[in-house]
Amino acid sequence: MPGSPEIRASVREVSDTRRGVTLGKDPPIRTVEHLLAAAAVLEISNLRVEVHGEEMPILDGSVAPYVEALAAAGVVEQDASRSIHTVTHPLWLASKSAWMLAVPSQMFRATYVVPLDHPTLGTQIVDFDPRRQRFATQFAPARTWGYAHELDALRLAGLARGATVDNALGIGSEGFLSRPRFPDEPARHKLVDLIGDLALLGAPLQAHVIACRAGHTLHVDFVRRLAGTATTR
Ligand SMILES: [Zn+2]
Repeated sequence: MPGSPEIRASVREVSDTRRGVTLGKDPPIRTVEHLLAAAAVLEISNLRVEVHGEEMPILDGSVAPYVEALAAAGVVEQDASRSIHTVTHPLWLASKSAWMLAVPSQMFRATYVVPLDHPTLGTQIVDFDPRRQRFATQFAPARTWGYAHELDALRLAGLARGATVDNALGIGSEGFLSRPRFPDEPARHKLVDLIGDLALLGAPLQAHVIACRAGHTLHVDFVRRLAGTATTR
């Protein structure tokens, strides 16, 4: 873009959270959460990203291609210290029926509860504990998802133009509209989005975060709250 404007991946720069996370306004850069999730789980804290256009590539709708590309490029350890955010007491935030909670923990861990708006799919609960699970194979491949009626409405509104059965998992009245990569793929993807949004804190978070029915807007509000209360060391 003219002048190659730069923007910092910080919660202070968030300008929109309706469909993914947008940083900045003039120009904006949209859908930054997948790349940030990949960088966060690979513990990359110093990264310059050059983008053509106003949106990060959606790729296959998951963060797996970003994880693979970053891992293949390699990570260099730098001679500098980096801070970590810890929480010393439980912190919570709620909006209507959605809520988030962070409790003190020896290391980062995330749990996501997704009550699906569907009569037979029910409630999905996933837990990411880096000591027991591999993010690259168990969470990174989970794709963006949505309800068919919402995707149709978004398309009519001119948004989510890139969403197709190839890069998004649709849920219709009959259930999944294509073959899911995991039975609980929607909850796995929500957890991935959460990790990407938590990266906007600017430092790794050492806490157990539990989210229920949340989304980007609550995630980002929670990061703002963490930024104001968490202790950095
Ligand atoms: Zn996502």
